[in-house]
Amino acid sequence: MAATGALSASVGGYFREVYRTVRTILIGLKITLRYNFAKTVTVQYPDVPPVCHARFRGFHWFQIEKCIGCDMCAKACPVDCIYIEKTGARKIDKESGIARGGAMTRFAIDYSKCMFCSLCIEPCPTDCIHMGDSHDLSGYDRRSMVVEFTDLARQGLQTPQPLWMTHPRAPSWAHEKRRQWDERVGSVREEMIKALSDSTPPKPPPKPAAAPAAPDPAAGS
Ligand code: SF4
Ligand code: SF4
Repeated sequence: MAATGALSASVGGYFREVYRTVRTILIGLKITLRYNFAKTVTVQYPDVPPVCHARFRGFHWFQIEKCIGCDMCAKACPVDCIYIEKTGARKIDKESGIARGGAMTRFAIDYSKCMFCSLCIEPCPTDCIHMGDSHDLSGYDRRSMVVEFTDLARQGLQTPQPLWMTHPRAPSWAHEKRRQWDERVGSVREEMIKALSDSTPPKPPPKPAAAPAAPDPAAGS
């Protein structure tokens, strides 16, 4: 009698397991089926360009020709990932809007630490550092995540470009993007190279002429 009870319990357990298995498979298939008809969200990057919205915080756009090397951005950075070196004081020439003086020998950002918070942008007194429109920085090791903007300036670049973008078979949108970057750099390319060497600092503005002394009323009487 006890043996019959045990047998029916194990048969019941067997069918319960079969039921659970079929049920979970059906639940999984139902989810798969639902996504079969959902809107596709995967972008076939880099064949298809990503959509970056206007306030997107991408890899920085840095205008070395306007940088005075004041360290304000580096001090504001919560993870200390901006490295700045210069040979002497730099000042903005008010006429041209270009910084002159000591050479910028290093301006680098370690993107393995950067969290794209944009806190470095606000304190910049010359408005020369911005969040850029590029989200891709490919490389083969961690060292290549440290972007030397001084080296980029020699190549006429103000933002890092991913390695694949330099490939001749890169998609046409990537060539177009590079063309837009070049256009944005425009005529300051020469000034970017000059920022890497010492130059004559701008002359201080002339002091306003002293106002003539008011005549002493007592002297005339
Ligand atoms: S975005 Fe934020 S973390 Fe990155 S360099 Fe600027 S302040 Fe530092
Ligand atoms: S705050 Fe602006 S001007 Fe000063 S070092 Fe940074 S980028 Fe250059």
